[in-house]
Amino acid sequence: HADMAMYAAKEAGRDTLRYFTPEMNTQAMERLTLERDLRRALQDDPAQLLLYYQPQLDADSGRCIGCEALVRWRHPLRGLMLPGEFIGLAERSGLIVELGRWVLAAACAEQAGWAAAGLQLPVSVNLSPVQLERSDLTPYVSGLLQRYQITPGMLELELTEGALMNEDVRHLAVFNALMQLGCRFALDDFGTGYSSLSRLKRFPINRLKIDRAFVSALPGSGDDEAVVRATLSMARDMGMDVVAEGVETAEQQQSLLAMGCTQMQGYRFARPMPAAELYRFVVRLSQSQDAG
Ligand code: C2E
Ligand code: MG
Ligand code: MG
Ligand code: MG
Repeated sequence: HADMAMYAAKEAGRDTLRYFTPEMNTQAMERLTLERDLRRALQDDPAQLLLYYQPQLDADSGRCIGCEALVRWRHPLRGLMLPGEFIGLAERSGLIVELGRWVLAAACAEQAGWAAAGLQLPVSVNLSPVQLERSDLTPYVSGLLQRYQITPGMLELELTEGALMNEDVRHLAVFNALMQLGCRFALDDFGTGYSSLSRLKRFPINRLKIDRAFVSALPGSGDDEAVVRATLSMARDMGMDVVAEGVETAEQQQSLLAMGCTQMQGYRFARPMPAAELYRFVVRLSQSQDAG
């Protein structure tokens, strides 16, 4: 049980002294079980995995301008699991490389399915920094784009600020190679990290995603309004788009629109949904647009 004890101790953090309780043991064991289950799902039963898609709207025109792929895991015993319950574990165990490939392939395949039905819709895929450390990411993405006949600009890769903090040259090379392919980049959860503007400038970011932490208290929070305004102004100067995440209410939508932020994603418009449902959502939306 030595490695299990290490596992729990690492989790507890370096500068906290903790007694080893039976509960911790159970937690560590559960994590290992989950890791084994995820490895098995990826190897033998990838049908346990699926993507949900959340539409992104231009609130000015009311049109759908893209969608974000969000992974789900239909665990045989635990039911539908959210990424918060297994992405961290996948990153620590290295399984994220395999999982990330599955996500990219599934997103491209489903995007190609929509295209075959007449719907051209950009898709955003979340990338873990661990994936960027692998130089074979670029040929993998390139192969998918060819196989599914996808215009590279229709695939957006979402990274968090943490992924840009890494100064590793191999890491930067992968980033640049993906950009050379024509993929777009979005900076996820913008405002929650610690990257300086001068650092951001070095990366070819096409879009900033304002974290929902800055959206939730709108309108009325002067500080959050200031963050949104500053983000919009900087993005304009640097030629980037801005999308607000986690828009839940009409008031938040109005507030964002008044500040000039038109791209939005959030429960206000739609929750993440399976691919077939997303297709119907977008078709219905464009029909109501054409009618109105
Ligand atoms: P994220 O990329 O910032 O994705 C947005 C999250 O906010 C999603 O949670 C989405 O369901 C949720 N959300 C959207 N609109 C609203 C809203 O109006 N209100 C609230 N309260 N929440 C909203 P989800 O699907 O649980 O994903 C959580 C995180 O897991 C994602 O955050 C992303 O960092 C990560 N993730 C998801 N899929 C993948 C993946 O395929 N690969 C990797 N590496 N990470 C992923
Ligand atoms: Mg994201
Ligand atoms: Mg986000
Ligand atoms: Mg997030």
